[in-house]
Amino acid sequence: MDQSIFEKLNGSKKILVTGGAGFIGSAVIRKLLKETSAKIFNLDKLTYASDLTSINKLLEDLGDSARERYSFFKVDLFDEKSTIDVVNEISPDIIMHLAAESHVDRSIEGPKVFLQSNILGTFNLLNASLGLYRSLPNQKKENFIFHHISTDEVYGSLGPEGFFSERSPYDPRSPYSASKASSDFLVNAWFHTYNLPIVITNCSNNYGPWQFPEKLIPVTIDNAVRGNNIPIYGDGLNIRDWLYVDDHVDALFQVVCRGKLGSSYCIGGNNEKTNIDCAKEICLTLDKLKPKEFPYKKQISFVKDRLGHDRRYAINASKIREELGWEPQTNFSEGINKTVTWYLKNTDWVKKMKKRFK
Ligand code: NAD
Repeated sequence: MDQSIFEKLNGSKKILVTGGAGFIGSAVIRKLLKETSAKIFNLDKLTYASDLTSINKLLEDLGDSARERYSFFKVDLFDEKSTIDVVNEISPDIIMHLAAESHVDRSIEGPKVFLQSNILGTFNLLNASLGLYRSLPNQKKENFIFHHISTDEVYGSLGPEGFFSERSPYDPRSPYSASKASSDFLVNAWFHTYNLPIVITNCSNNYGPWQFPEKLIPVTIDNAVRGNNIPIYGDGLNIRDWLYVDDHVDALFQVVCRGKLGSSYCIGGNNEKTNIDCAKEICLTLDKLKPKEFPYKKQISFVKDRLGHDRRYAINASKIREELGWEPQTNFSEGINKTVTWYLKNTDWVKKMKKRFK
């Protein structure tokens, strides 16, 4: 990635990352620790989905200078006072807001916490950020930015043709996507009404190391390796546009450093796969990396479909490509290879995280 992009993140810049103990947030923090000299503040509620192992391991490797640049704050964004207090205490230059409840199936079973964290949590963070922004001297105001990290699921479900883009109408259909759509609207409103400098990104499905083992790709790897049935919803023909997590992180840095204020950017892998093809690719990779007497794909088994299961997501990422020069660097077989290799080496971590399933 172009190193000049990190200039904006260097020096005494203070970057607040919310949800930094989650899958994507921890990848953002690892990259900031490795590639910048910024001060990094990780704010997270530490839900069942969070884990700080990857960051702590990296801090050990990088030593004192990195440790001095990093702090962790256990805060629930639903708690208004704590959110205001911590934002004022840190006084960040840049906020990258990733904290959210993120699992669609859980949102169907228990939507309330999704509304609390994703909508009211974002509202509390916006209000705290606006209070801080208004108090800043002009020069700091010019550099301040609030980056809201969202999903392509806000656009609903596509038929066999077409792509989502920044101009697509919002049409969320699950409690998760409805809560994320609401938070996008709030962030936009804080830009237009209060002039808070914001950017929004809407990304397709991510995969890679350290993803909580309730999401499709780690679930498939884990069941395959354990000799269990590999569950696939419905007819397996739902389509997702998969993006390797480090490519998403690079896109986030491009947008937070160079994105147009008040804009949104769609981020996608240009890599549409049906769920069944995705599972088959994982099985083929396992056949090579951990062969056994029969192909792993024999374990694939279809299960009752998810309620309101969106059929197809696909992103037209031409805006971020043309304006900011970002393109995904990792093709699907390479990304799956890296991911499966990582999960094969980290079975203890998977075991630890699975103990948190309810
Ligand atoms: P994740 O579930 O792995 O991590 C989310 C983190 O947010 C967790 O560490 C959790 O403890 C924290 N959190 C939740 N509620 C909180 C609250 N009230 N206060 C403070 N912290 C809280 O999720 P992820 O996959 O890393 O996703 C991160 C962000 O990216 C989310 O906003 C998600 O909507 C968005 N996104 C994810 C994907 C994907 O495929 N995973 C794709 C596009 C966008």
